[in-house]
Amino acid sequence: MIDMKSVSKWYGPVQVLTDCSVNISKGDVVVVCGPSGSGKSTLIKTVNALEPVQKGEIWVDGVAVHDPKTDLPKLRSRVGMVFQHFELFPHLSVTENLTIAQIKVLGRSADDAKARGLKMLDRVGLMAHKDKFPGQLSGGQQQRVAIARALSMDPIVMLFDEPTSALDPEMVGEVLDVMVTLAKEGMTMMVVTHEMGFARKVASRVIFIDVGGRILEDCSKDDFFGNPDARQPRTKDFLNKIL
Ligand code: ATP
Ligand code: MG
Repeated sequence: MIDMKSVSKWYGPVQVLTDCSVNISKGDVVVVCGPSGSGKSTLIKTVNALEPVQKGEIWVDGVAVHDPKTDLPKLRSRVGMVFQHFELFPHLSVTENLTIAQIKVLGRSADDAKARGLKMLDRVGLMAHKDKFPGQLSGGQQQRVAIARALSMDPIVMLFDEPTSALDPEMVGEVLDVMVTLAKEGMTMMVVTHEMGFARKVASRVIFIDVGGRILEDCSKDDFFGNPDARQPRTKDFLNKIL
């Protein structure tokens, strides 16, 4: 589904991804963690070419993301992305937020887009808020709308970049619950998060990336959490700090 081969990236002279290879199969839930500035956001954004790379190959469902000839808008329409900040359109209602890309990007009719959007809104438990504006919702609710919006596009994979780290603690659970359900339903997911409870529950693999964008670990969650002796010293340090 996602195949990154020896991906490297520099900002000027500074290398931020170093020879990263990641393989994600359909239905995998891959959690990416690592210290601040290690390149987690950069890595996840390379999947839909929001960050271009100078070296290596990135394949998403057979599409060569690294190839300048690739139709990036088309690729991006199939890759759902949820960021730390909810990035809903503040001047549009929840329903309009859910439908606009379906109509403009996928060419769906307004009725079709609305039916699909509201179905996803129901899935994240927010049907009662369909006519509100983002500013009238809590952070957790806005993030669930952002997830519903991404799902409305029928993504082949969902990318999450620290979706709960800007939320008040009491709202983290409601967003993680939605993500856990999604994972259990078989959605292919790449998730940057330090919520190790989420990783323990549903991750098929955990990747640890260190400063300089070096992948130090890529292993099953049972290995990652259950076999500390097999972990790199840097990983152990990190886990000691966050657990
Ligand atoms: P955090 O946990 O703080 O979100 P991260 O692991 O997501 O960090 P990235 O945001 O991917 O890290 O950044 C990786 C490195 O690239 C950092 O050293 C950062 O300063 C650098 N970087 C990111 N964006 C740019 C940019 N536009 N120009 C120059 N350097 C950048
Ligand atoms: Mg980041």
